Amino acid sequence: MGTASKRIVIVGGGFGGVQCARTLRRRLTPDQCEIVLFNRENHMVFHPLLPEVAGASLNPDAVAAPLRQMLNGVRCRTETVRAIDLAGRVVEFDAHGGHTGTLSYDHLVIACGRSVNLGSVPGMSDHAFPLKTVGDAMALRAHVIQRLEDAEVCEDPVQRRWHLSFVVVGGGFSGVEVAGEINDLVRHSRRFYPNISSDDITVTLVHSGDHILPELSMDLRTFAEHEMRKAGISIVLNARVSAATADGVWLKDDRQFRGATTVCTVGTGVPLLVERLESPKERGSLVTGADMRLLGNAHAWAIGDCAHVKNTHDGELCPPTGQFAERQGRQVAENIVRVMRGESTRPFTYKPLGVFCAIGGRNAVAEILGHRISGFIAWFLWRSVYLFKLPSWSRRVKVGADWAWDLLFARDLVNLKTDPTERVSRAYFRPGDFVFRQGEPALNFYSVEKGTLDVIRTNETDGSEQLVAVIGPGDFFGEMALIEGRARSASVRARTPVEVTTLGAQVFSRISKALAPLQQRLAEAIRQRTANPWTRLPHVHAMLRAEAVSSFVEPAPYILAADATFEDALEIFATHHADTIYIVDDSSRILGVITRTDLFRVVDLVAVKPVAERGSVSIRSLMSRDPLVMTMDDTAAAAALSMWSRGLKSLPVVTGANGPLVGCIRAETVMQAVLRRVARPAGFPSEPVGQSLTSV
Ligand SMILES: Cc1cc2nc3c(=O)[nH]c(=O)nc-3n(C[C@H](O)[C@H](O)[C@H](O)COP(=O)(O)OP(=O)(O)OC[C@H]3O[C@@H](n4cnc5c(N)ncnc54)[C@H](O)[C@@H]3O)c2cc1C
Repeated sequence: MGTASKRIVIVGGGFGGVQCARTLRRRLTPDQCEIVLFNRENHMVFHPLLPEVAGASLNPDAVAAPLRQMLNGVRCRTETVRAIDLAGRVVEFDAHGGHTGTLSYDHLVIACGRSVNLGSVPGMSDHAFPLKTVGDAMALRAHVIQRLEDAEVCEDPVQRRWHLSFVVVGGGFSGVEVAGEINDLVRHSRRFYPNISSDDITVTLVHSGDHILPELSMDLRTFAEHEMRKAGISIVLNARVSAATADGVWLKDDRQFRGATTVCTVGTGVPLLVERLESPKERGSLVTGADMRLLGNAHAWAIGDCAHVKNTHDGELCPPTGQFAERQGRQVAENIVRVMRGESTRPFTYKPLGVFCAIGGRNAVAEILGHRISGFIAWFLWRSVYLFKLPSWSRRVKVGADWAWDLLFARDLVNLKTDPTERVSRAYFRPGDFVFRQGEPALNFYSVEKGTLDVIRTNETDGSEQLVAVIGPGDFFGEMALIEGRARSASVRARTPVEVTTLGAQVFSRISKALAPLQQRLAEAIRQRTANPWTRLPHVHAMLRAEAVSSFVEPAPYILAADATFEDALEIFATHHADTIYIVDDSSRILGVITRTDLFRVVDLVAVKPVAERGSVSIRSLMSRDPLVMTMDDTAAAAALSMWSRGLKSLPVVTGANGPLVGCIRAETVMQAVLRRVARPAGFPSEPVGQSLTSV
């Protein structure tokens, strides 16, 4: 192989890349060319059967085929290709030991598929399960089985139903298949869980169109919907998800589907490698000519989900399916062989054979060569076709054995999950959601990335709530109960949409012991939180609790519009005694703040710019975003504590949770009112503190 005169590099060992490598190896001898295939994992994933892994009817190793055992005579490398130099014909990859490796090529086939991107819906990437890798399918299966276990021991019927409510977003092939699989797994396993009744289980499929499975003809779509509903799956059509939290999903029309499990099968992204590549793209995919060569490049080709290829058979754009990727892999290999032999290339042309979709309950729908089939026969054909399409004989035997087991025995309910507290993760909360409630056991530590939260203490005797503090970005919470090993002494509730980083108890304990700066910050925070400034002045506290922020609000002295520049801010600080400038949008909603201290911090950033550009640096790129704000209805006590614990001189005040800026509340003003009250005899004066201040 070492004496080969040419080298063909393939990036991606999925449907397209594997078929391309196989065809090339059949058509060219090792002396004619060396074939190198890069794939991050050492196996190819057979995606169409991932829902079956999630539903415990297949074992994970049955859908992952080891590349080097499948591709004889191909050099398989499990390194990530990070960049491609099309002009120099070189790929750059993350080599062993943290180095960067390079490899030149005569021909390059880009077949790196698509990546998962759940980021377009708030909270989706934090709380929903994607279904793209074998790991995703295993994590989902473990989670579903754990929900059965939790529901079995849950005394509260409402909470039990929550454990057994599953929401699947996306009514395409993978969404329909995974909803059917989860429904089968949970309903068929019920007989092993005596405390679970069939009414406790809800599986909901949310789809944005009029009907699920838009690729199929109308009668098959309605058949699929009818059968799925009969099996107990609720189908919600014409619905778009607006947010996902640990509690379930919200739709754009404000309907909520509560449940412990959300699966998202929509949301694909462009792989970084493709994004970085300077070549014409259409919706992020690499545009190719009819023969699948990158536009304007004689030696680079693109196939599969990452490519924008037209099918000469019907003039349509090729859909992102394994069927098309495989065909493109075969035909691109033939075209490369033609180029190497000095022959002309052929355009991509393929007449699709048909589509299958399993809908659960040993039912499927299919359109094969123009014929429509549904029900058990379609399901049987679906299994036979996929068995035949699996990439190697070893996988066919494994899958066949698992399916035979599935026909004879109940699905395997073993749950090989890792300890969930051993995690660093992120979480999203909608306004009004509780991060935790008073009295709950302490499981996590939280650091706020975005948004504002209320810390609330509930009086156990009369149930009344007291707002203790308001916290925002840069703050952390939840450490006291973890350190002291006790239940939560207050509740924390999101006031605006909130994003937090969450550390499980054990991770928190290890990191806080090992990291000296964190230890120091924690010690400071605990000192501040335990040294309650009100203990020695209970009557002052009572007075400020009875007063709303609105009694103290003053006009915000320094406001800049979002298009202001660094120079504008500099001028205000230079000519006034300003300590804070608020930056607002066209509707007067607060976007950020810049303080005198921030100014010193950003001077270094601005100094690296050319002199002529310094003044015009946008204020938006320098301000602290998403600042902590108070509303007019908050208590003055909460505002005072928030300023005291952060060492702030003032806080912006807005109307409602996301309303426009109305002014600010200043620590000095509140302090003056307090001093006046302390200086006067108890019970005097009778007028509200805020108003009495204006007469000073
Ligand atoms: C749940 C699910 C069910 C599906 N069901 C069906 C179905 O029933 N029928 C059907 O036809 N299609 C189905 N599809 C779609 C089908 O799987 C894809 O269209 C197909 O996998 C695309 O093949 P590909 O070769 O373009 O990319 P992929 O198969 O995604 O392979 C790309 C490979 O490239 C690797 N890679 C990416 N970037 C790099 C890099 N920089 N360096 C090294 N390696 C890299 C990846 O790790 C991956 O292994 C399904 C997809 C999913 C997710």
